[in-house]
Amino acid sequence: YAKQRGKNRVERYQARYDELLRRRGTLENELRHAIDRDQLRLVFQPVVALPSMRPVGAEALLRWHHPTLGSVRPDEFIPVAEESGLINRVGAWVLEQACIQLAEWLSRGHDVWVSVNLSPKELHSTDFAGHVAEVLEQHGVPPQRLVLEVTEHAVATDMEELISRLAELRATGVRIALDDFGAGYSSLGQLRTLPVDILKIDRALVAEPESRTGMAAPLVDVVVRMGHRLGLEVLAEGIGTPAQRAAVEEAGCRLGQGSLFGWGVPAEHLEAQLQTLRQGSSRPAPAPRSAP
Ligand code: C2E
Ligand code: MG
Ligand code: MG
Ligand code: MG
Repeated sequence: YAKQRGKNRVERYQARYDELLRRRGTLENELRHAIDRDQLRLVFQPVVALPSMRPVGAEALLRWHHPTLGSVRPDEFIPVAEESGLINRVGAWVLEQACIQLAEWLSRGHDVWVSVNLSPKELHSTDFAGHVAEVLEQHGVPPQRLVLEVTEHAVATDMEELISRLAELRATGVRIALDDFGAGYSSLGQLRTLPVDILKIDRALVAEPESRTGMAAPLVDVVVRMGHRLGLEVLAEGIGTPAQRAAVEEAGCRLGQGSLFGWGVPAEHLEAQLQTLRQGSSRPAPAPRSAP
């Protein structure tokens, strides 16, 4: 019996594995055509100053709507893009669309910046900094309006290489954000040596206070302090409740992002969202809106 049970387990495992491989193959094939077939879109999630809630920028987040597969989450297709080498084309598309949008908002008088997520592979592609400078110039975007987000994942690789890549990028005038800080890879020690401007605290840390009643976000507190001492701007990600907002504000964090202020929306809806946030922030005691 035990033998038979073991065999069944192996077969089930094999079947599940085959299914994963098939899904991966499908995603890779379909992603190859996603740009040409106009299936990719960007949504923009507002970033606000704290505690005023005045909107200061937005993060561009990639969406893929496939006619038969439906919406595929970036957490699933970005790794496929990275492993298949498609990420360079996808990333170039994202950067260009984000710059087009940013140029439009600037021309309409919105005082905002836009951040774009980078994959380690893009960062290490030949003359990436030159590419970024070209796209900015082509669309008339002042470099300091663009923020490039790198993940801790990139940090786990060759540090010296990473530092020189980031320095090249910064030399073009763009700002660099270290994304998902505290999610697992990099340390406060590494942070000292990295040429970054903004520290984004991962939402796992931001969500922490609710699981430890009575304590005011001890880790957020440490990270915010350290970030400020290193001369960085610190942004708390994934703020979803008034309690989380209160905790990061108490820790001294001056920038926030999360469902409490708004999820990512198509560009044409962001202006309305910024407007709502601006009205809220001009009131003496801004009432936080509930998440959709
Ligand atoms: P990220 O850069 O850390 O982006 C934040 C993620 O958290 C987004 O998920 C966003 O929708 C989600 N989020 C924002 N506020 C809240 C909140 O209050 N609660 C919760 N639970 N979630 C919140 P999304 O859009 O699914 O993106 C997932 C990840 O995929 C991103 O994490 C980023 O690493 C990657 N990604 C997205 N777009 C791109 C892109 O254009 N290029 C690259 N290379 N990666 C991208
Ligand atoms: Mg990000
Ligand atoms: Mg993040
Ligand atoms: Mg992430």
